[in-house]
Amino acid sequence: MECMEWKESIPVKGYRDVIVAGGGVAGVAAALSVARAGKKVLLLEKANLLGGLATIGLINLFVPMCNGRGKQIIFGMAEELLRLSVKYGYDFIPEEWKNGEPEQPTNVRYIARYSPQIFALALTELLQQEGVEILFDCLATRPVMNAGHCEGLLLESKSGREFYPAGIVIDTTGDADLLFRAGIPTVQGKNYFTYVGHTITLENCRKAVEANDIRLALGSCAGGNADLYGHNHPEGMKFFSGTTVEDVSDFLIRNQRLLLDRIRNENRTSRDIVTLPTMPQLRTTRRIDGDYTLLESDKYRHFEDSIGAICDFERRDFLYEIPFRTLVRTGYDNLITAGRSASADGYAWDVVRVIPPAILTGQAAGAAAAQALETGCPIYSVDLPRLQSSLEKARVMIHFDDALVPGADRRDAGSRGEDFGHI
Ligand SMILES: Cc1cc2nc3c(=O)[nH]c(=O)nc-3n(C[C@H](O)[C@H](O)[C@H](O)COP(=O)(O)OP(=O)(O)OC[C@H]3O[C@@H](n4cnc5c(N)ncnc54)[C@H](O)[C@@H]3O)c2cc1C
Repeated sequence: MECMEWKESIPVKGYRDVIVAGGGVAGVAAALSVARAGKKVLLLEKANLLGGLATIGLINLFVPMCNGRGKQIIFGMAEELLRLSVKYGYDFIPEEWKNGEPEQPTNVRYIARYSPQIFALALTELLQQEGVEILFDCLATRPVMNAGHCEGLLLESKSGREFYPAGIVIDTTGDADLLFRAGIPTVQGKNYFTYVGHTITLENCRKAVEANDIRLALGSCAGGNADLYGHNHPEGMKFFSGTTVEDVSDFLIRNQRLLLDRIRNENRTSRDIVTLPTMPQLRTTRRIDGDYTLLESDKYRHFEDSIGAICDFERRDFLYEIPFRTLVRTGYDNLITAGRSASADGYAWDVVRVIPPAILTGQAAGAAAAQALETGCPIYSVDLPRLQSSLEKARVMIHFDDALVPGADRRDAGSRGEDFGHI
């Protein structure tokens, strides 16, 4: 049965050059990139803090930005935000990388661990300073389409339902919700059972005081505890798509009940939960079926339309370039995505969705949006040399150096390094 919407008059707000829907790290990077190109940009976020999974989802680790041999691969805004993540809160960047790329080769990888809440505060400060308009606590519900052109977005917020016209819309909802509703073909992922929060205990607090290190005060608690490969996914339990309200609610209810079961008999005066994820820890929900879909077999392949080189967070040496075509679909002239809904499949989806590449694609989507507005061309046909040159100016490495591709004689190529946990 269908419920036809009743006729209502919807207030129309002022025109924005670009609207970025979703303030995770990809959306933050996209909005920043648009603002730095001198365009008027509005960032919409349904939660009350910026950062998405990387803050309110409590994922507080920038996975490696280097190849596992001491060569930095990911630069640009990803490095800028990595440094910002540790600017005000507790921090961990390995000694070797504290001052950038080390002079000597090292197997230690370039990562950062940070306080998620303090990173979120720093993101708001940065975007405000750079002139990005932010609306919190508002849900972008629907693109208003005219054939393959998006006129703007409908929003639900405290103010009710409103229409925001825009020149270009960047969907960084993480789930490609808006591009899906615009009619762009999409692909759904399969998600395992994960729900990890942060705790403090008296014992940890004592250790922290002794060592004078607040990080030691924190511990973790979990409902589901599955990693990206599905290890620890309860036997017989369904997989989650994260694309319907029932599925997301089921995921959260099962996880919350399991977590409570685990802690209900603990000593109540010796521990507390300080934060639980306030967005579901779902990894690969929905992505666009873009003009190109990146695959694991594209490892070491150069693309003419590369928007940046990335490394693999687990396997040293493995390098990829992300084609611009993973963010767009021909026929939709002013819609683009970034972050974990970029078009990549299988293990390549995992490599592309993590924090540094999500920032990289956000930065590129923002730069492409600004360029498309200036030239008046459809976003899927922006001039690529010009886009690449603007990204290079912003310190993005477009193509990896072939000298970094290991020869057949390198026996440990692609070996797994440190285990970084849940990812
Ligand atoms: C369990 C788990 C462990 C992980 N571990 C790591 C790790 O250790 N290191 C790492 O680098 N990566 C890790 N990742 C991956 C990484 O955290 C995310 O893929 C990355 O942060 C995605 O960023 P994003 O901006 O694309 O999307 P998201 O972080 O999902 O951001 C989307 C944002 O859009 C908002 N939004 C959604 N819909 C709307 C709407 N309709 N209107 C307005 N706002 C909306 C959301 O509230 C959110 O803020 C992990 C992910 C999971 C789930």
